[in-house]
Formats: sequence, structure tokens, C-alpha cells
Amino acid sequence: MGAPGSGKGTQSQRLVERYGIPQISTGDLLRGALARGTEYGRRAKAAMDAGALVADEIVLGIIRERLAERDAAQGFVLDGFPRNLAQAEALGAMLAAIRAPLDAVIQFEVDYAEIIRRISGRRSCQQCGRVFNVRAAATPPHCDQCGDKPVLVQRADDEESTVKRRLDVYDRETRPLAQYYASKGLLRRIDADGSVAEVTGRLVAALLPLETPRAERAHQTGS
Ligand SMILES: [Zn+2]
Repeated sequence: MGAPGSGKGTQSQRLVERYGIPQISTGDLLRGALARGTEYGRRAKAAMDAGALVADEIVLGIIRERLAERDAAQGFVLDGFPRNLAQAEALGAMLAAIRAPLDAVIQFEVDYAEIIRRISGRRSCQQCGRVFNVRAAATPPHCDQCGDKPVLVQRADDEESTVKRRLDVYDRETRPLAQYYASKGLLRRIDADGSVAEVTGRLVAALLPLETPRAERAHQTGS
């Protein structure tokens, strides 16, 4: 878990490479289920066509179907779910039913001012879609495809007011999950400010105790 722009998606990908387990991102899963036309996919599509949020029950059904696939047998990284307490409790019940409980919940701690600065600086080339950051670039952006003066546009999602609103939603609905998972002994907090490599180092260090198989860990702690 982490605020929008905290780098969860990128770091999840590093875990995929390190452990050879799939990243399960609910956004991608929903799109996949829609494309394959599964039962849950059809129900999700009906909700989205009606302009409604996809019910938690449908999202959980899609996650459950995904976890039954062979590549998830050794583990998985869940990215972007749960986002609130009701979802966390429903997820816990579902994972208990399929005997695949969470081993850890990582909370990415980031400086919000830095997130706002980073995201609100994103622009894309109107011609080719290449993404630039007007805060990071020392020189005016140059698009290899479109030349020295690309026409840069900002996605509505990246506008400062939108970023602030998304951070507020995270604080109100998702952040409280830290307490919930801490009480279950699952929470690991990491400082997610820094380069991708630095954050990966902290993430791997936080997960290192889990590299011992679960049966052995239970033996070591005498539980
Ligand atoms: Zn371009």
C-alpha cells in the first residue's frame, strides 16, 4: 500500500523479477477479465457501462480466479487492492478460504509535497504520447520523434488539484489499513523517497525474513 505516485507499481515489478511470482494489479485484472469475457468480467462490464463502481465481490471473484492460475502457486504480489477496510476484511476471508494468507503488507511512506511536485510536472507529447517531466528536465523538453518544440499536454489525472484529491482519499480510506495490518503483525513500513534502486533495496531488506519457507519460520518462532 502507498499513496498514488509512491512507486508501488514499479517496485512490484522488481519483486516479480526477484521472486518469479506474478504482480496482481486489480486494474489490469479487470481489463483482462473484460477482454476474456469471464462471468465476473461480464458483470464488471455491466457495472462500468452503467457508470457504477465495480462491486468488491466482483473484484474479489476476479482476484480469486487469478490466484487459481498455476503461476500464482508460489506466491503473488497484490498491487492496488485492498483500498479500504471493508475490502481488506473481505480479502482476508477469501484468502483464508483458499489457504493463501498474506505474508506481509508493505506500506510505502512518501513525502506528499514531493509526490505533488513529481506528478503535477508530468506532461505528454500531444503527437506521440511520450511522457516528460517539466520539473525534472534541466533543458526544455526535446521529443526525438517530434523535434525541439513538442506540444505538451497534461492529463486531468495529473493536475495538482486532482493529485491532492487522490491523496486525501488515500489518507481517509486506505491509510487506516496500516493500523489494521499492524494489529495482525503483517505491516512493514519502508521509506519510499529516493531512487528506484534505493527503494528496491529497502523493500528487499523488509521482505528478507520471509524468504525462509513458512513452515520453517513457524518452527523457528515455536508457533
Ligand atoms: Zn513526440
